[in-house]
Amino acid sequence: MVRRVAVVGAGVSGLAATKCCLEEGLEPTCFEQSDGVGGLWRYTDQAEEGRASIYRTVFTNSCKEMMCYSDFPFPDDHPNYMHNARLQQYICKYAQHFDLLRHVQFKTRVTKVKKRSDFSVTGQWEVVTQRDGKEETAVFDAVMICSGHHVYPNLPLAEFPGIQKFKGSYFHSREYKEPEKFRGKKVLVIGLGNSGCDIAVELSTVASQVYLSSRSGSWVMSRVWDNGYPWDMLVITRFRTWLGNILPTAISDWLYVRGMNRFFKHENFGLMPLNRTSRKEPVFNDDLPSRIACGVVVMKPNVKEFRETSVLFQDGTVQEDVDVVIFATGYSYAYPFMEDDSIIKCRDNQVTLYKGILPPRLEKPTMAVIGLVQSLGPIIPTADLQCRWAVKVFQGRWMSLCWVKTYFLTTLQTDYITYMDELASAIGVKPNVLKLLLTDPQLALKVFFGPCSPYQFRLTGPGKWSGARKAILTQWDRTLR
Ligand code: FAD
Repeated sequence: MVRRVAVVGAGVSGLAATKCCLEEGLEPTCFEQSDGVGGLWRYTDQAEEGRASIYRTVFTNSCKEMMCYSDFPFPDDHPNYMHNARLQQYICKYAQHFDLLRHVQFKTRVTKVKKRSDFSVTGQWEVVTQRDGKEETAVFDAVMICSGHHVYPNLPLAEFPGIQKFKGSYFHSREYKEPEKFRGKKVLVIGLGNSGCDIAVELSTVASQVYLSSRSGSWVMSRVWDNGYPWDMLVITRFRTWLGNILPTAISDWLYVRGMNRFFKHENFGLMPLNRTSRKEPVFNDDLPSRIACGVVVMKPNVKEFRETSVLFQDGTVQEDVDVVIFATGYSYAYPFMEDDSIIKCRDNQVTLYKGILPPRLEKPTMAVIGLVQSLGPIIPTADLQCRWAVKVFQGRWMSLCWVKTYFLTTLQTDYITYMDELASAIGVKPNVLKLLLTDPQLALKVFFGPCSPYQFRLTGPGKWSGARKAILTQWDRTLR
């Protein structure tokens, strides 16, 4: 019987995990290596080892109604998209409101997680922690890994011939904090993800020229969508998911490409993704097209070779006198505290998890990896529902031995609503639209045609929140406010 749960990390996932455990009568101990909650969203001027590091101007790309915890809406007066400091305030309020802080051990790093010798019978883990140089070992019935996935930079220098000869400076985007020291410089940013675009746009206000190199292009979306409403409140709806599922692929692909080109025609801006119809996570940037149109950001293909002071691109063009190169090349997953990390990285060093949460090779399902799946949806409600699901699995209330290897997320990329509904169905919290249509038609229409906001997963079943219905009916009021 699971009772004691170790939670590694007190970011948004770790706090959700701690709260879920408490709600289910378990005893969580959350270990956080830094001295505060918030994880990635707790900005510091210097990157800290083992913790995600963001630049000063990071804003959310999910709006407040879509990215909140499912039973804790943002205050009315918060803007729809938030600066990291505002989100951090909200996270702290959440921790206080649910009295989570007394379960968090700060400045305590988890250094080792290993199966106990009788794991196949008990499912128990030995967790070693370090605080002020002192080591402690404790036994837990289950472990929730909430240590973040934007921590260990992916810096593929071997793919960039000549980089050793390059006389300018180069570094990973993790080290980037603010633009001032790049004033007047020629900067090349490699990578068309969210960080690469943000950094290129920000630098274009001070640098003499910014080049943005992309291997395969990407859809770039604006936070501000039709008639100025938040993109995610219009795009992430049950109706659209249903439509996507019933339409022939060719039509749904056509609609997708049309939707993505609505803000501007990607082809004309050198941004067109190589695989047009792939549902790969798009990039959010309201300003990139205008920066390109103004010539202060210049799109470039992949780098072929670095020379001492210049860069040769795959299309044969050469840019002279490049001062700085920023590799916005993403992150690798790592779990340095796992004694045997093949438990998580089990196939060709790739992460393969049942439902994107449970390591599949364990004799007992007593470990959960939270916050790793990627979808077009926001992470906070995803992590929250993953934790609710995982805690039920720990308690053996679900899945007795349907511990079959039928559905693994190997790419970890998934459709938001489909994924959320799968977890929600399994634990009995998926809203039943047809039933609602009979009992509460006003709500049913909002649930089906309106944004799939997190409150939908608190309408019914275990963990039901009495404020969920009202939160759904008033979500647009808060958005307009
Ligand atoms: P983290 O926030 O990384 O927290 C992990 C915590 O674990 C940290 O506090 C760390 O100190 C602690 N920890 C790690 N290892 C140990 C250990 N061994 N012992 C003890 N403690 C440990 N998502 C969205 O939904 N919307 C957005 O708008 C959005 N914007 C983003 C912008 C940027 C620039 C980036 C990089 C990501 C963004 N994301 C966004 C994704 C983001 O990862 C999530 O929002 C979220 O922060 C993930 O939370 P987490 O708790 O899983 O991990």
